[in-house]
Amino acid sequence: MQRFAITHAALFTVDPQDRVIPDGTVLVEDGRIVAVGPAESIEIPADTVVIDSGGKRAVLPGLVDAHSHSSLMRGVTENMPLMEWLPYYQLEHRALTEEDAYHSARLCYLEALKGGTTCVMDMFRFMDRCADAAGELGLRVNLAPYVADQPGKDFFSTREENKRLIRTHHGSQSGRIQVWMGLEHLFYCSEDAYRDAVRCQQDYGVRIHTHACEQREEEDAVLKHFGRRSIGMLDHYGLLGEKTLLAHCVWLDDDEIKRLADTGTSIAHCPISNAKLASGVARTPDMLAAGINLGLGTDGPVCNNSLDLFEEMKFASLIQKATRLDARALPADQVLRMATIGGAKALGLDGEIGSIEIGKKADLVMLDLGAPNLTPHEVTHAGGNLLWNLVFAARGSNVTHVWVDGRCLIEEGRSTQVDEGHVVATAQTCGLSLYERCRALDHLRVDMI
Ligand SMILES: [Zn+2]
Repeated sequence: MQRFAITHAALFTVDPQDRVIPDGTVLVEDGRIVAVGPAESIEIPADTVVIDSGGKRAVLPGLVDAHSHSSLMRGVTENMPLMEWLPYYQLEHRALTEEDAYHSARLCYLEALKGGTTCVMDMFRFMDRCADAAGELGLRVNLAPYVADQPGKDFFSTREENKRLIRTHHGSQSGRIQVWMGLEHLFYCSEDAYRDAVRCQQDYGVRIHTHACEQREEEDAVLKHFGRRSIGMLDHYGLLGEKTLLAHCVWLDDDEIKRLADTGTSIAHCPISNAKLASGVARTPDMLAAGINLGLGTDGPVCNNSLDLFEEMKFASLIQKATRLDARALPADQVLRMATIGGAKALGLDGEIGSIEIGKKADLVMLDLGAPNLTPHEVTHAGGNLLWNLVFAARGSNVTHVWVDGRCLIEEGRSTQVDEGHVVATAQTCGLSLYERCRALDHLRVDMI
C-alpha cells in the first residue's frame, strides 16, 4: 500500500460545507483520500510518508480547466475579434500534423500541471497522441476531438475517428482518460452529426462537448441561418442535458438560462478568452442564481494566452464587478468552486475529484505561503484573508506540489515525470515550423460568415 500524509497545512476542502481547516492533515492511501481534518485529530500510521508543511503551505483540490484547446499558436493572432480570428485558427488545423498535436499537448499539459491544474478538458485533434502526452505527464484529461462534417471543414476530425478514440481510449490510464463526443459548432456540424453524438452518448455512455453562443455576431448569424438561436437549435437536436457541456454561452437570454438550468446542462465559462476576442461578458451571477453548474476554462493558449487558472479565477470575478458596478459580484468562494468542484461536475467527475473529501481521488495542489504575494496570510475557519488572496493574489507559479491519483507529478515546482527542458525545446522547434506552414497556407483563409 502506498500511503502519504500532508500535515499542518491550510486546507481549503471545497466540500459541501466549504470547510477550511487552518492547521489540517490529509491522509492518502493508494491514490485516495482516507482522512482529512484538523492535524491533531488524524492518526497517522507508522509507515506513512509525511510531508510536513509546518504551517507554511496551503492545499487545495486540483484545479479543473473545463475548456481548453492544446496549441503551439500563442500570441500569433492578436488584436482580432472572434470572426476575424477564426479563419487564422483554421489555418493551424489545416497545417497541423500528428507530431504537432503531440508536442502541443505535452507543452500545454506541462504548463497546466505546473500551475496547479490537475484535470483538463481538451478539444483538439489527433487525440490518441494527446493521450500519449497525458500519460507521460500523469495529467487527468478529457478528450473531445474537434468533429466537423460540413463542406470545407474536412481538415477537422470525423465522427468515425471520434468513435474509434472512444473504443480505444475511454477509461484508459487507470480512468484518467475520458473520451467525449466533440462537436465544433453549429456552423461546422450537420444535424446528423449532432443526432449521432446523442446516440453515442447513449450507446457508449460518454458525454458531449461543443461551443455555443460565444459572440453576438455569431448568434445573429445562427438565427438567420437556422431560424432559431444556438440554444434553441441544440435543444431541437436533443443535445441539452446533464451529460452535455457547452463552452462560452456569453449571449444567453433569460429563457435560455432557465432552459439550461432546467435541463442540467453545464457551462464552461471562459472569461479571459471572451474578453480577448471581444465576445462579451457572460452573465455568470445570473447563471449561478438560476442553478446552472459552471466550470472555468482557459480556452487554450491561442485565445488566452495563459493556462493559469488562478489568473482566470481573478479575472472571472473582476470582470463581473467592473461591468455590473457591483463589488459584491462573484466573490472568491464562488469562483474557487467554479475552478474545482464546478469543473469536476461539468465533466461528470464530481464523485471522484473537485474537493478534498474522504473517498475522493487525491488530486491535490500545494502552494507556498512564504511567497511575497501571499504574505501576510491569516487562515480562519471562514478562510481568512488567504481565501481572497488565493483567488486575487496567487499565481500558478506559487504552486510547489501537484498530485494526481495520489502520485506526485510536480515536486518543488518541477515535473517528476518528464524532462521539462526537452518538452519546451521540442515544442519551440515544432512551433516555429508550424508557424511557417500556416503562413504558406494563407491563400486558403476563408471568411467565417
Ligand atoms: Zn473553445
